[in-house]
Amino acid sequence: MPSLEAVSSAQGVYKEAIEYLAKFHASHVRQWFGELQPVELAAGVLTIRANTAIQQQYLATKCREVFNEAAQAVTGNLVSVNFVTGSNAGGALARLGDSYDDIILSPDYVFDNFVVGPCNRLPYAACLAVSERPGRAYNPLFIHGGCGLGKTHLLQATCQEILRRNETSRILYLSCDTFINHFMDCVQSGDMTEFRYRYRHVDVLVIDDIHFLARRDRTQEEFFHTFNTLFQSGKQIILSADCPPNEIPELEDRLVSRFNSGLVARVDKPCYETRIAIVGKKAKLRGINLPDDVIAYIARRVESNTRELEGAITKIQGYAMLTAGKYDLDVARAALGDVVPSSERLVSIQTIIDAVVRYYNVRLADLQSKKRHKSIALPRQVCMYFARQKTRYSLEEIGGYFGGRDHTTVLHAIRTIGDYRQQDPQFNAQLERIEASFAPANSAAPSTAAAG
Ligand code: ADP
Ligand code: MG
Repeated sequence: MPSLEAVSSAQGVYKEAIEYLAKFHASHVRQWFGELQPVELAAGVLTIRANTAIQQQYLATKCREVFNEAAQAVTGNLVSVNFVTGSNAGGALARLGDSYDDIILSPDYVFDNFVVGPCNRLPYAACLAVSERPGRAYNPLFIHGGCGLGKTHLLQATCQEILRRNETSRILYLSCDTFINHFMDCVQSGDMTEFRYRYRHVDVLVIDDIHFLARRDRTQEEFFHTFNTLFQSGKQIILSADCPPNEIPELEDRLVSRFNSGLVARVDKPCYETRIAIVGKKAKLRGINLPDDVIAYIARRVESNTRELEGAITKIQGYAMLTAGKYDLDVARAALGDVVPSSERLVSIQTIIDAVVRYYNVRLADLQSKKRHKSIALPRQVCMYFARQKTRYSLEEIGGYFGGRDHTTVLHAIRTIGDYRQQDPQFNAQLERIEASFAPANSAAPSTAAAG
């Protein structure tokens, strides 16, 4: 029984350590850290209890160093952190042995954190079904698709859901690389019995990135027998790859046909709406609050690879730390090293008016009047058009500025000018000239010469 003192100081240190991590290692911090229980601080060891074995394994392998650093910074002593788990709830995975770098499941990769969209509805549903009835829903389950599209996330979520439903389930989750290395070592040392025992006595075998079996004749042979043994005894097999079975180079026909015999499901690139939801979810998981426009900006910028969406959040998070923790569009742009195309760069409304007044030789007072003569109305519409494009003023504000007009007038102006631009190359060239004069002298676009 830890002393009262040890407990209360553990709580104090833990709280400060989390604050320290949020400041210096923000990308490590997860919302669920709040559920961890500091147990005691004694003899230079801060003991922290995780809710599940999966959390505990993850913390111990992925977060120990940053936690140690935080505990030391907070206490000023050489404290180390030890992660324990209260019960065995959540299940432990079958381990390959310490010399193999078998993958630790990430507590982030659960179904709750997976965004379902048109791009991944089938593989998601298949994984869910398999986790509910392993060995009986789809066997084998083969998930394929491009890099960073959520295959590993789905595989790990399936493992965790199976364990959540049945904590005695024996699951072996590993990368194909690990399987190959383990096989080669066992061949060399003549430990094939042990190898076979390990892989053939599990309830669920999950191998990520199985396309690495390409051209590995002997490993393929061994895997074929592993596959058959498990399959025949109704054990679940789940595989992922970056392409469908028949496109894996030099994969034996009999393996191709085995892989095709269950369900083959593809993950596609996420559409814009799905990307928005993923960014929102990831940000929330890290306990940060991104405004909608920043979320939309990230989703627009990063199109093809979900992993990069996360990288973008990390960059923005890091950058925001340096700039007083603000998460706005400017910070996001700067963090992603955005070279804002000149067409998107913000300019002041005064700059726009100056340029338009000069170009059409009209007076500001006229632009702001109710006059409707064409010689005034057109420049006024051009002002509205650019004001909408280049500033953050609302339609109402722009209308108010130019003679107290309502937002429908502004909208009409924007459409009219946009149409003219498309239909009339000469008019378009005029607008380009006006636009070029918005730029500060030192960054005048080279195209000015061509336009003039
Ligand atoms: P793959 O294994 O296909 O290369 P991962 O599963 O490693 O891709 O996914 C890369 C990152 O993108 C992970 O952080 C994962 O959580 C995230 N991700 C991918 N798809 C989704 C999704 N639909 N919802 C939430 N996160 C996703
Ligand atoms: Mg993967």
